[in-house]
Amino acid sequence: WELTEYRAELSPRQPMFFDETTGGSGQAVTFGEVRDRALRLAAGFHGLGIGAGTRVLWQLPTWPLTVAVSLALARLGAVQIPVLHLHREREVGFALRQSAAAYAIVPGEWRGHDYAGTARKAAPAGVRVLSVADGLPEAAPGSGGALPDFVRPGSTPTWIYYTSGTTAEPKGVEHTDGSLLAGGIGLATALGTTDADTGSIAFPYAHIAGPDYLVTMLLSGFPAVVLDTFEPAAAVEAYRRHSVTMAGGSTAFYQAFLDEARRRRAHAGPGPAVALVPTLRLLSGGGAPLPPELYHAAGRELECAVVHGYGMTECPMIAMGTPYDSDEQLAHTVGKPVTGARVRIARPDGGEARPGEPGEITVRGPMVCRGYTDPALTAGAFDADGWFRTGDLGLLRTDGHLVITGRLKDIVIRKGENISAQEVEELIRTHPAVGEVAVIGLPDRERGERVCAVVTLAGPEVGAGAGPGPEGLTLGALTAHLRRAGLMPQKLPEQLEILDALPRGGPLNKVLKGALRERFGQR
Ligand code: ATP
Ligand code: MG
Repeated sequence: WELTEYRAELSPRQPMFFDETTGGSGQAVTFGEVRDRALRLAAGFHGLGIGAGTRVLWQLPTWPLTVAVSLALARLGAVQIPVLHLHREREVGFALRQSAAAYAIVPGEWRGHDYAGTARKAAPAGVRVLSVADGLPEAAPGSGGALPDFVRPGSTPTWIYYTSGTTAEPKGVEHTDGSLLAGGIGLATALGTTDADTGSIAFPYAHIAGPDYLVTMLLSGFPAVVLDTFEPAAAVEAYRRHSVTMAGGSTAFYQAFLDEARRRRAHAGPGPAVALVPTLRLLSGGGAPLPPELYHAAGRELECAVVHGYGMTECPMIAMGTPYDSDEQLAHTVGKPVTGARVRIARPDGGEARPGEPGEITVRGPMVCRGYTDPALTAGAFDADGWFRTGDLGLLRTDGHLVITGRLKDIVIRKGENISAQEVEELIRTHPAVGEVAVIGLPDRERGERVCAVVTLAGPEVGAGAGPGPEGLTLGALTAHLRRAGLMPQKLPEQLEILDALPRGGPLNKVLKGALRERFGQR
């Protein structure tokens, strides 16, 4: 909150958002206006009894209003629980119960879904549902509204975020204003943002990356185009209109952008080629592996730097590439630990690994969460020296760059041998007939677990002329390819499943391996 006040004093009339949400006309909303709106909302919320420590869940799309609501809650010192708009009754009910929220703020109806109705159904008795459609409580402009003095929350957790639930049930993660601020500082320094930039918020603002990004904007004083739906063609037009210099999000975002550039080139008439967004200097994101081929194609065809990073709900910024890194570093690593973060690779016995030696990635720094809402989980999350155990596997190279090699829990244990799903996935992806891939371990009487590859087939333009066509993909052809690529026989898939699409979920649209295990584990 203090950073918001600082920026609103420093550049009150500078645009903070260009509102390109549904029904928005692209108009600018200034830093001063956002601060004022947050204060009016804070006065309204205060009138309802919301104050320091009140638990308020919000499930709002990526709107300028969402940022104002979140800032209003921060001004009051409330504990906020951001929930993705994709979540439905089961997830919202889980978060409301688990976080013991007293209020839920929702849109009303949006894009065909009745959020207010769902929240009311999902809410335990006593939870008050406030809907944007009915009007949020808000002091009149200029009235000021009575507000208690701002109290710095210090080490009190004021945020609860839920993890994606990739490995198990979502975990409630407690953050302080300070830990989110530290993550944002890490991001700003890695990206080298300045007030000459124009950014973009096309990812769900309710994701942990939301406040991280907000901090970079407030620190550097740059505006961002706000989109509540990501439709590549429309996004490109909006980015061109506002001369966007930085865009990004997940790996899927890079791919969508690349596809849009290719689509436009295929339909372009004669004349010099124009970059998709000529002002774009940087495409950035993280949260999932970035295949090197996608890195190279995106950089080349979008004519900008592509920097990819590593973070998690428990520690939103851990490592990030920078525009100053080499192509090789950007394509094969997630960059160096960001400002403030320290990474230590732990051997199974707890000792520190040497450069190049893989182990569990552990982190320290001001951006690490306070812990989980469930104290039993917190107890196991930090080692004896206070390093946070990420559950991810990786190594630090001699140049200081971090490489993620897999997840501690995303391994297949076949005949007692640990096989990293990621290693096998990377090789399978090099088969021309394969589009997407997920490798999972399935229960197996003889081997404990067997390796199962679940793939989608590549589009015809990719597979054409490059070896066996998609129709020809068999387990035999795939394993022959993997043998040629040097994969040891123990790691070869023993089962191949071909799907039209991989099941995905969560803010970053991650592959839901649990669902795949359930589906194919029975056979
Ligand atoms: P859960 O903790 O509930 O099982 P989750 O770990 O997927 O779910 P998130 O906190 O959203 O939930 O995701 C963080 C994880 O995403 C990291 O621990 C890591 O495994 C993965 N990840 C993040 N960035 C990258 C990256 N650049 N490359 C590979 N994996 C990444
Ligand atoms: Mg996790």
